[in-house]
Amino acid sequence: MSTPDPDCLFCKIVAGDIPAEIVAETEHTVAFRDINAQAPTHVLVIPRVHEPDVASLAAAAPEAAAALLVETRRIAQLEGHEAYRLVFNTGAEAGQSVFHTHGHVLAGRDLTWPPG
Ligand code: IMP
Repeated sequence: MSTPDPDCLFCKIVAGDIPAEIVAETEHTVAFRDINAQAPTHVLVIPRVHEPDVASLAAAAPEAAAALLVETRRIAQLEGHEAYRLVFNTGAEAGQSVFHTHGHVLAGRDLTWPPG
């Protein structure tokens, strides 16, 4: 469901109810710095609507999903990077800990492959 979840940390950031280091906002997205940065640039880009993961977002709100993807490159470029890694951990076993869609924009260091 896309309505705000009162128990969701990232819905609270969208609402401005808890602080975050906001990088940019658009009609569909909010971008803010990860509190546990894994690279010189580590920004989370999230939709304003509450969907638990990116595939659910694309199914429920394709315009917001497309806007989020476009915004990731704009954020990387704002931070001075043409190359960046975009990660959507999907499911707890894959490392997802916050169940409100978020793309990790990582840049500014050598990013090895495969990821851990
Ligand atoms: P996930 O593990 O892919 O779900 O990513 C969740 C991310 O949210 C982690 O990288 C956390 O460091 C980050 N995070 C958790 N709480 C906050 C916060 O309050 N502000 C910014 N980032 C957060």
